[in-house]
Amino acid sequence: MDIPRIFTITESAHRIHNPFTPDKFATLGTALRLAPGARVLDLGSGSGEMLCTWARDHGIFGTGIDMSRLFTEQAKLRAEELGVARQVTFIHGDAAGYVSDEKVDVAACVGATWIAGGVAGTIELLERSLRTGGIILIGEPYWRQLPPTEDIAKGCLAGSISDFLVLPELISSFGVGGHLGYDVVEMVLADQDGWDRYEAAKWLTMRRWLEAHPDDESAEEVRAKLTTEPERYTAYTREYLGWGVFALMPR
Ligand code: SAH
Repeated sequence: MDIPRIFTITESAHRIHNPFTPDKFATLGTALRLAPGARVLDLGSGSGEMLCTWARDHGIFGTGIDMSRLFTEQAKLRAEELGVARQVTFIHGDAAGYVSDEKVDVAACVGATWIAGGVAGTIELLERSLRTGGIILIGEPYWRQLPPTEDIAKGCLAGSISDFLVLPELISSFGVGGHLGYDVVEMVLADQDGWDRYEAAKWLTMRRWLEAHPDDESAEEVRAKLTTEPERYTAYTREYLGWGVFALMPR
């Protein structure tokens, strides 16, 4: 069981697999007022940067589940490196349907809401692991600017304009407007510099990978991506797509 190989190639050097930077995760950890010993569940935990740094900085205990074998291995190494291996556990597996045995203080899915079929399904799944009074974290894209055409949405690698909402609509979808019945109690948004760290970091990784693997079966695909991605990203994603983490509490 693993994610498509292309992500493992392009994001092998990433510690954070979304447009957040280390300072954004630090801001979020502080904003949530995490108490030492708090339990955090993270579905789609990637290379574990959020749980490992919050374990170091706030004394939390965390469990992360991720379908990528490589990212899960990197998360375990990061925990060792930061001296928090006794506080965090990383499990390689499918997070679809995952509910923790023990209720948690924070249940998160940061940039992987397809795990439960979208934002609403993921919130529902996370709530099954959440203690009363706990906080749900959802990391999700939104339109910074509504794309004027479907072609522009496709340029952002969205299936269509309707895949994402503008920020006030996304906020409203969590609360009264969307009938999900959650209070939005905090929010930290990515910025374009963070998008650059996520997207532009892939380019050097691809270039170095191509030099090391010229005859690999994925070489042609990676070559094509390296050729087109910088222009596509700067023309579309960087201009039109926002991203943020939203903290929710059931009403
Ligand atoms: N939250 C992490 C990673 C976000 S990228 C971070 O902030 O860095 C999305 C992650 O979801 C990837 O690590 C990918 O391997 C993982 N993933 C995709 N499908 C999954 C599934 N069904 N179950 C668990 N993890 C999954």
